[in-house]
Amino acid sequence: MKKINIAIDGHSSTGKGTLAKALARELGYVYIDTGAMYRAVTLYALRRGWITDSGVDRDALLRHLDDIRIEFRHNPATGRSETILNGENVEEAIRDMRVSAHVSRIAAIPEVRRKLVSLQQAIAARKGVVMDGRDIGTVVMPDAELKIFMTARPDIRARRRYNELIAKGRPADYEEVYRNLVERDRLDSTREASPLVQAPDARLLDNSDLTPEQQLEVALKWVKELTP
Ligand code: C5P
Repeated sequence: MKKINIAIDGHSSTGKGTLAKALARELGYVYIDTGAMYRAVTLYALRRGWITDSGVDRDALLRHLDDIRIEFRHNPATGRSETILNGENVEEAIRDMRVSAHVSRIAAIPEVRRKLVSLQQAIAARKGVVMDGRDIGTVVMPDAELKIFMTARPDIRARRRYNELIAKGRPADYEEVYRNLVERDRLDSTREASPLVQAPDARLLDNSDLTPEQQLEVALKWVKELTP
């Protein structure tokens, strides 16, 4: 069957990764989590002390941008792909609330986006890729055969994210999780560089009242329409 590219964009914590991973598994495609790349750059900057309450030391970050190497490595034990920052597995560390709190500011820097988009486009050239993020259908893969824009009611998204953190044994506060995702949506949608918008040719998927299995069914039906 002909391989296509699938772009998944949408609001924070809408389960883009869950759907993207399930689609990649079903179709034998490669899954790329672009949010993880922005998170890895943020973690790097936090560790270097370039992000403080007073702002981001943009000059220092841009001077060292070429020192940041991001890769994905398949972990045969878990069957999942993990994020590697300069040789270190940071898959867990990049999910921290401290990273979540700052990532949208780092992702708004045009030079950071340029670096990561070019990496993402090199991967997409292979075809058979499911990529999720905020600008995939609009900037990274404007020619993706299937574009999905995901959303859900904010209270539902915050509850899912909160439960996920608690299940992993991480300290979490529901109100903080809620505020963080609403604020990230605001920053992502209003920034100048590649803001989060639904591509005109993207299909809207509101999963407020759908289970992961139901949303996968919807998306697989769309794939079938495109690859008869
Ligand atoms: O997908 P995730 O929530 O992990 O992404 C973290 C943040 O990275 C988003 O809130 C957004 O600010 C940024 N991002 C982006 N463009 C992408 C993917 C993520 O700006 N393609």
